[in-house]
Amino acid sequence: MKNILILLLAFVFVVSCKHNSKEVELEKGKATDAGPVEPTKPEDTEIWEPKPKVVTIDEETGIPSDAIVLFNGENFNEWVSAKDSSAVDWILNADKSMTVKDKYGDIQTKRDFGDIQLHIEWKSPTDVRGNGQHRANSGVFLQNRYEVQVLDNNDNDTYVNGQVGSIYKQSIPLVQASSKTGEWNAYDMVYRAPVFNEMGEKTTPATITVLHNGVLIQDHVEIKGTTEFIGWPKNNPHNKAPIKLQDHGDNSGVSYRNIWVRELN
Ligand code: MG
Repeated sequence: MKNILILLLAFVFVVSCKHNSKEVELEKGKATDAGPVEPTKPEDTEIWEPKPKVVTIDEETGIPSDAIVLFNGENFNEWVSAKDSSAVDWILNADKSMTVKDKYGDIQTKRDFGDIQLHIEWKSPTDVRGNGQHRANSGVFLQNRYEVQVLDNNDNDTYVNGQVGSIYKQSIPLVQASSKTGEWNAYDMVYRAPVFNEMGEKTTPATITVLHNGVLIQDHVEIKGTTEFIGWPKNNPHNKAPIKLQDHGDNSGVSYRNIWVRELN
């Protein structure tokens, strides 16, 4: 009987404590049985720390202060040949742009990147040189393997999952926002790299958002794997990797300028 009484008292004590702690929570405005209590003062929902880092924009170039400038027209210091890592021999132009040197091959950054925001401008040549995939075909490859297509698509049909602004053979752009043939285009991208586990399996897919001339064309799209010309996407594990620009090998005449990147953490 005495033991039962002790047990009963212990039970009442525990319940009482739980009840009291709930009351304290309610008094603090933290919780109800239905969920968080509706804040009653403006400061209840204010967060002051940590403060975001301050980034300033260069008035002349428009480049954010925390960006890495990959190409500003001065030289190819940030780039190498993708074929053999030798010095780049694409064409450096007086207007601070570069042009693909036909059949020289792709070029890539010396640096490796993971998650990034990328700004890059490109244009097709004024003189029309071919049709379909053979008209001003180049491409921006994230991590050396995921291509955002560059193409002169003006009055120039091709398969839509390989048209300008497509994630090549994977994602059709929402709209076609091209400049006139021979005029500058801008791509702004937010790219999140895929994650692989220790077994080499992809646990988080890469995603990409692309603006073409300020117009949303890829909206947080999941990248399925490598952007193959023939075959399905592949998913071999990889670490950070360079950004690559394509020489399609058919006298594309594509030019690039004003390339900068912000690393995202
Ligand atoms: Mg291409």
